[in-house]
Amino acid sequence: MESKQYSKRIRYLRRLIITTVAAACLIPTCICVILAIRYDRLHTEYEKSMADLEWYREQFGSERDILATEAEPDGEDSNIVETTSEGMDVDYATVDVSGAQNPEDIEGTRYVYLTFDDGPSTYTDEILDILEQHNVKATFFVCGKPNAKYTDLYKRIVNDGHTLGMHSYSHKYSELYASLDSFKEDTDKLRIFLYETTGVWASFYRFPGGSSNTVSKVDMHELTDYLESSNVTFFDWNVSAGDDKAGANKDTIYANIVNNVPRFKHCVVLMHDAADKKSTVEALPEIIEAIQAMDDTVIVPITEDTLPVQHIN
Ligand SMILES: [Zn+2]
Repeated sequence: MESKQYSKRIRYLRRLIITTVAAACLIPTCICVILAIRYDRLHTEYEKSMADLEWYREQFGSERDILATEAEPDGEDSNIVETTSEGMDVDYATVDVSGAQNPEDIEGTRYVYLTFDDGPSTYTDEILDILEQHNVKATFFVCGKPNAKYTDLYKRIVNDGHTLGMHSYSHKYSELYASLDSFKEDTDKLRIFLYETTGVWASFYRFPGGSSNTVSKVDMHELTDYLESSNVTFFDWNVSAGDDKAGANKDTIYANIVNNVPRFKHCVVLMHDAADKKSTVEALPEIIEAIQAMDDTVIVPITEDTLPVQHIN
């Protein structure tokens, strides 16, 4: 009797030990697997972001140095001298950027065109989500990024009903603006790339640095003539987020846009879709809500009917 109870207890103890050992092995293994999966996901995200940032630095690093030595604003004389994208300075007093070329529009509706340069990037999906949530269509002036991870982003821009415009394939000023031929080659390469990727034959262009850039070795009119002959309309901007300026943050970006939109009847708003422009994404929902709250104001994508805002004629 006693020995029966004894062996029962032994069996119980043995089971307990086996269960404990099994649990002691299994639980850490499960935790390891879960952590490994999470690590892998985060690592992939991280690598994507870094590759994106790398692309951005490559394209912009050397250009910023060139631009820093160009066209400094001469004096404090006005608040209409604004630093624009890519560090260029444009004196709005000398260019027609009223955006109200059509007199009939002066008393009518205000049209706001949100434009995003330099994409696609790690933030494109987030920007597209915000636009979708607010039921807004915008315009993306994109570069040529053949890496497969961007393919779906180009497609989503188009499928979501936004306008796909060109912003040069390489975004390298030194190559793009070296000659008319290099500009043609770059533009054609991007146009074909976008067509093959999305089926869209792009017909809008945003010059890196704007048409008023002072970096181009070619007279910009030669380039605008080429675009015109290719049935491409170029768009500059009259409102800038200033999201490429040092110290730009959510609040300055919001203020740059929301304070300046009321000045124009046709607002082409310059923003960036780039790996180092998180603040733009953070500011975007409130910017859209503020514009939507303005009287007689609509946010629309650039179309064939849009009056272009151009820094040079
Ligand atoms: Zn750009």
